[in-house]
Amino acid sequence: MTPANRLTCEEIFRRLDDYLDRELSADEMRLVKEHLETCAQCTREHAFDRRMLDDVREKLQRIEAPADLRSRIASAIAKAKLEGPAS
Ligand SMILES: [Zn+2]
Repeated sequence: MTPANRLTCEEIFRRLDDYLDRELSADEMRLVKEHLETCAQCTREHAFDRRMLDDVREKLQRIEAPADLRSRIASAIAKAKLEGPAS
């Protein structure tokens, strides 16, 4: 029997992404956190997911559009505005 307020490992796995993105309700955040504190398996999974996420975020921060690309986009937008809709 699983108490109603406890989540199974499978339910935790399904929520880990949202937990990492903090998109769960406060209640669910707490349930996941409590589960992670007592379940080595889910803790490992969570640590792995978080490393992946940190990795992606770090890469995204490092990748910046080159200055010339940004100015080309800006002038393309300005040109499109000047020309306006075809009439
Ligand atoms: Zn678990």
